[in-house]
Amino acid sequence: MEINDTICAVSTPPGEGGIGILRLSGPLAHFILRKIFKTSKGGGTFESHRLYLGSIIDPDNLAIVDQAYAVFMSGPRTYTREDVGEVFSHGGFAVQRKILSLMIAAGARLAEPGEFTRRAFLSGRIDLAQAESVLDVIESETDEELRYAVGNLRGALSGRIGMVKEKLTNALVETEALIDFPEEDVDVDEEGIGTYMEEAREALKSLVDSYHEGNAVRHGMEVLIAGRTNVGKSSLLNALIARQRAIVTPIPGTTRDLIEDMIHIKGIKVRLVDTAGIGLARDEVEEEGMERVRRRIPEADLVLWVLDGSRPYSPEDEEVYRTIGRRPSLAVVNKLDLPPVLDQEILREKGVDPIYISALQEQGTEEVKQAVYTRLMGSSRRGNNVLVTNIRHRTGLARALEAVDRAIGSHKGESPKEFTAFDLREAINLLGEITGEAWTDDILHEIFSRFCIGK
Ligand code: GDP
Repeated sequence: MEINDTICAVSTPPGEGGIGILRLSGPLAHFILRKIFKTSKGGGTFESHRLYLGSIIDPDNLAIVDQAYAVFMSGPRTYTREDVGEVFSHGGFAVQRKILSLMIAAGARLAEPGEFTRRAFLSGRIDLAQAESVLDVIESETDEELRYAVGNLRGALSGRIGMVKEKLTNALVETEALIDFPEEDVDVDEEGIGTYMEEAREALKSLVDSYHEGNAVRHGMEVLIAGRTNVGKSSLLNALIARQRAIVTPIPGTTRDLIEDMIHIKGIKVRLVDTAGIGLARDEVEEEGMERVRRRIPEADLVLWVLDGSRPYSPEDEEVYRTIGRRPSLAVVNKLDLPPVLDQEILREKGVDPIYISALQEQGTEEVKQAVYTRLMGSSRRGNNVLVTNIRHRTGLARALEAVDRAIGSHKGESPKEFTAFDLREAINLLGEITGEAWTDDILHEIFSRFCIGK
């Protein structure tokens, strides 16, 4: 790919909109802008970083294509560090297609997906981890997701990785001094090497661990609603999503399939799955439905075990309890509005501390949401302002952690110092791959092909 050419693209989503934005980046940006845009004041050149009102003109016949704003930004103070032009026209298929074709006729070529961001990376304006978080920002659905994505875009993850690399580099330099010179000739603090490595290890571990939470923020977590028939699972799902989705009926066993819905709890995406009641199956369809629940339980991040407070504890309840087994679960006793019949002692003996609710009257459902959040997030949230949400980053960090572990092992043991140095170098390289100091065309293709055109 030629880096010296000028690229253009529509940066806003296709379709009709109040405005549509087109971008140009490369050495011809100013030339092209001048050719197709006439400012209303009639001036021929653009002052950098200044917005002009004017018209898009077809240079072939001087026809006015649209009224628009345009800005020229002289590199390197731009997204790509190249000269950049932007046109804010009306948003519509015909108008944007026409402007794009004028840009191409004037010497630009259509940008590939993510090419603007790719140029920002190649010019050194942002590193690879930051470039990837551009996509995370665009794809963020919740405030929480956005907060971490912007943090990483601004370099939070890269900064943390840089810190780890510095510690590892210090350890490496000292280790190499031990290799190159006999101990009596140099003043190397062997304990200090160990400390650098331990500190790096700690920081790496907390980044790797944050992926679980990061993944939850990014992709949501699954909460399965289980319980025997008629305890109010569908009603609880409805109360939690606060709109009618599952069909609630007084006939036992009507939720034969799995019904799913997505809710946001404090910025975390939670996929709620309502299940067929576990119990004594009455027909094959129910049997199949229950089998699905059993299979699904191990995949769920949390199981809500729903009980009916107005009925005695039954063998079916016990079967649900046993099916859930050791999976993380929360007990919910429903139908608080009816006279209490359920023997609470049975739950207490199991060490179960339930939340009492009335799904019908939407009582206690906020407590359920709160408890779900706490259980899903645990205490890991404390002080974690960098979250790893990207699998590529997690893989690299985990491999770097393994290398550091090996380095620590050989440093403490009797192994030659060369082993320690080797593993330290490997860890440093792996971290460099995340931020993009070492990259290949394949890596770049893999990353930027996920972008849309115009970004
Ligand atoms: P599921 O089979 O566990 O999904 O149970 P449903 O949600 O279909 O509810 C079964 C029956 O219990 C329906 O008639 C609901 O109206 C009723 N029900 C659900 N929650 C409550 C509640 O909090 N109080 C009362 N009184 N009835 C409820």
